[in-house]
Amino acid sequence: MFSSVLIANRGEIACRIARTAKRLGLRTVAVYSSADKDAPHVHACDEAHLIGPAPASESYLSIERILEVAKRTGADCIHPGYGFLSERSEFAQACADAGIVFVGPPPSAIQAMGLKDRAKALMEQAGVPVVPGFHGEMQDPKFLKSKAYEIGYPVLIKAVAGGGGKGMRRVDKHVEFDAALEGATREASRSFGDARVLIEKYVTAPRHVEIQVFADQYGNVIHLGERDCSLQRRHQKVIEEAPAPGMTREIRAAMGKAAVEAARAVGYVGAGTVEFIADGSTGLRPDGFWFMEMNTRLQVEHPVTEMITGIDLVAWQFRIASGEKLPLSQDDVKLDGHAVEARLYAEDPERNFLPAIGPLVALEFPAMDGVRIDAGVVAGGTVTPFYDPMLAKLIAHAPTRDKALDLLHTALTRTRIAGVRSNLAFLAALSVASEFRAGHFDTGFIDRHLAALGAVPQGIDAGAAAAGVTALLAQPAQQCDASPWDATDGFQLGGPREVALPVSVDGERLVAQISYGQDAEIRVEHTLAADDARAFLADGTAYVLRAGRQTVVRIADVAAMGAVDHAGGGAVMAPMHGRVLSVLVATGDVVHKGQRLAVIEAMKMEHTLTAPFDGTVGEIAVEADKQVQDGAVIMTIAPQELNEGKA
Ligand code: ADP
Ligand code: ADP
Ligand code: MG
Repeated sequence: MFSSVLIANRGEIACRIARTAKRLGLRTVAVYSSADKDAPHVHACDEAHLIGPAPASESYLSIERILEVAKRTGADCIHPGYGFLSERSEFAQACADAGIVFVGPPPSAIQAMGLKDRAKALMEQAGVPVVPGFHGEMQDPKFLKSKAYEIGYPVLIKAVAGGGGKGMRRVDKHVEFDAALEGATREASRSFGDARVLIEKYVTAPRHVEIQVFADQYGNVIHLGERDCSLQRRHQKVIEEAPAPGMTREIRAAMGKAAVEAARAVGYVGAGTVEFIADGSTGLRPDGFWFMEMNTRLQVEHPVTEMITGIDLVAWQFRIASGEKLPLSQDDVKLDGHAVEARLYAEDPERNFLPAIGPLVALEFPAMDGVRIDAGVVAGGTVTPFYDPMLAKLIAHAPTRDKALDLLHTALTRTRIAGVRSNLAFLAALSVASEFRAGHFDTGFIDRHLAALGAVPQGIDAGAAAAGVTALLAQPAQQCDASPWDATDGFQLGGPREVALPVSVDGERLVAQISYGQDAEIRVEHTLAADDARAFLADGTAYVLRAGRQTVVRIADVAAMGAVDHAGGGAVMAPMHGRVLSVLVATGDVVHKGQRLAVIEAMKMEHTLTAPFDGTVGEIAVEADKQVQDGAVIMTIAPQELNEGKA
């Protein structure tokens, strides 16, 4: 076994790897960017080294800097986690060249599976069923369109170099093909520097079922069963479970065999995942699944497999990388009960899952039997725009699927996050959604049930708003900039006093009606049932949690409000820190309410900014490719009536 490891990652996975490494007696070395100085993974390791500024390209993706630290600290091996450098064969090669063990497969296996078209061709040769479609060299748009027609709609266009659901477009009709192809290739070349695509038959009622494989350096390959990851949004997993609902011994044996063959075909070593798509319209079948891709690394959702097998997958990765044999044979692998994982993200389901950044004013997880929390953040920390917005994973294990989902639901309802917005309430709703509970679901489930899952604008929670105002007013006056006691000299002492106080609730300006008497008891109108709300205060802001939702309340600064009204009336601002992809209008253009003005990429997603009202474009403060800060003015729009007045 090794005596030390450098963990080339951050967040929950770096913490999780450190936990096992320490248990195995390894000295742990963390690396971090300047944005992560106080991040939990820095404290989780025996030592930590700064490798560069916040952008991943200059820190967590810098092979040079990471290897420099590894050499300097004498690390025996490097664990890449997932994401970042985990699937870069040149990194695995550079480690080998530096005489440091890469905890992962050989560079050749990463490369063989790195491009989806090559991987599919290889799998076909190895006799593994692949999704029908075209994965050849020819990239002429006309030719690709004719291929799509031959395959038959709906089809899926995929970037051959894709990952994380990017560069992917579903096409339902022949007339929509050209536009979809353009979108997919543009996104692919921007995200992966490779515009090439493949075309696949879009499987009806798709279920994502993947097999965890493990191989040692001596040609032994086994699988640890499947995970069902069909609850997805934008082709990204949200809730994963094992075993897959409807899985039988026979189907598992067939999928397991195909996955093991896939691993053998590329000389695989270590932990890997073979992802299959299954046709869910007829239920799982031994001949109804097709290879999509192989992820040549540890997967985000690996804990569900750990919980039902009792195996520490990271420990196995270390043992195999250090030259040990697989500790179990296929027949020794036993599955016990059911496990389910939910990915907690900093995002706002009510605003189309817009990634969120900001302070973690409060963060509390429950301690419960059968519940595992893998977190990468702590209360008092900040979610920055630089990395993946996943905060933590909650994993529940119980004898049955129903009990595991109940346990997950309880754990979610006992979790508190204040400050940055999260998908907590959405996950709680998802974990009790009746059709999902009945096993009737596919990858389109979430999109079909957004409203029922609360992922639509909900409007203001007046009770929570009132609780927030009450909490803010109850603070000592010096902490509260706009105390109504100062602002209302005219009121008589003695009798009940009434104040109309301007407040901001979730960014909307409202007026709170406040009455308070001699005993300093404060009553805010609308206090209906707000006693189930809990307020966390920070920086003059109340973050009120109620029924899993957060309401953000501030006492408005009246002077500033006027200024915003005036100048901000026509200012289009960046919703978050990001990069301008394109500016779609020019100064002097007449635009209509809702018209697209610019596209910003932030946290791996595109956000379109639209005109707030009819008007004329004034000054444009940005250009394509420029970075913008959260709240920065992108352009101004002069409202229609002002123009008319001038003319
Ligand atoms: P899984 O979530 O099943 O492990 P994914 O391919 O969706 O597999 O990605 C795993 C992690 O790797 C993601 O959570 C993300 O952090 C990172 N990742 C994947 N693709 C990208 C990408 N294109 N850009 C940045 N990070 C990515
Ligand atoms: P990525 O590298 O981004 O993870 P995948 O090929 O694994 O790309 O596909 C991501 C997701 O897209 C899958 O989990 C599945 O939900 C969906 N998907 C992929 N291929 C198909 C297909 N042929 N038919 C239907 N859905 C698909
Ligand atoms: Mg995938």
